[in-house]
Amino acid sequence: MTQIIRTVADLRVLVRAWKAAGQVVGVVPTMGALHDGHLSLARAAKAECQRVIVTIFVNPKQFNNPDDLKKYPRTEAADAALLQTVGVDVIFAPEPGEVYPDGFTSTVSVGGVSEPLEGRMRPGHFDGVATVVTKLFGMTMADRGYFGQKDWQQLQVVLQLVRDLNVPITIVGCETIREADGLAMSSRNNRLTPEGRAIAGVLFAAISTAAEDIRAGQSDRMAIREAAEKLRHAGFERVEYIELRDAETLMPSDEMQRPRRMLAAAWLDGVRLIDNIPV
Ligand code: AMP
Repeated sequence: MTQIIRTVADLRVLVRAWKAAGQVVGVVPTMGALHDGHLSLARAAKAECQRVIVTIFVNPKQFNNPDDLKKYPRTEAADAALLQTVGVDVIFAPEPGEVYPDGFTSTVSVGGVSEPLEGRMRPGHFDGVATVVTKLFGMTMADRGYFGQKDWQQLQVVLQLVRDLNVPITIVGCETIREADGLAMSSRNNRLTPEGRAIAGVLFAAISTAAEDIRAGQSDRMAIREAAEKLRHAGFERVEYIELRDAETLMPSDEMQRPRRMLAAAWLDGVRLIDNIPV
């Protein structure tokens, strides 16, 4: 039976007992409105840990757009039913006041990797992410943390923060789960109109073709320009960025020896979609 817990004190009682029994604890941080992408993380955690906590918290600090925060879907009952099928032990779903009580003043700010791309387009976003993730690690005392490659830059920010701050947790990055047409699953996808949804798969198709062309020897700049052109032609309102970066530092890179990643953000139907793939 999946148990819903709202307070850090209650969570700690359980986790301390698990740890005393020598059990490995995994945590999957989410903002709810769960889909197969989230469930794949929970399944990976179940496969590797004796105990699994999924956190559901719509973190106000990581929203740089108040309208996005207001519109963010909240579907706790449905989420709980899904997590039950995976065999998750605990859903930790605290109220904002439990996470940020009166008098809370700290911010965790990760340098370098959090600055370009999403960091530039969404000021303050990664400070919000780094702060809440640090708190969730402290609250859950988990041994392993599961994150999606869908949010590649976020995964690198979390890896950097765990390294820099000696947080005693192992971070696991899980593959992006996609719809049949390639669209990366996201809680924001259901805000698309049927017309928008019908063309949203072009984002993955366009960056996949660009990555293939680059591997085949085409210039980065040309391949990226063609991908952006495809998106605009398909009906995307705006291409925020399509970039080829060092997969770990997220800095521009033409070092073929190191892993590289193509990352993109574009607007369709007033919804901001992001995706990324290895090159
Ligand atoms: P969110 O609820 O959007 O904050 O996402 C919670 C976690 O699920 C993050 O680690 C995301 O990277 C991961 N995630 C979201 N969508 C997907 C997906 N389509 N495939 C794999 N992981 C995902």
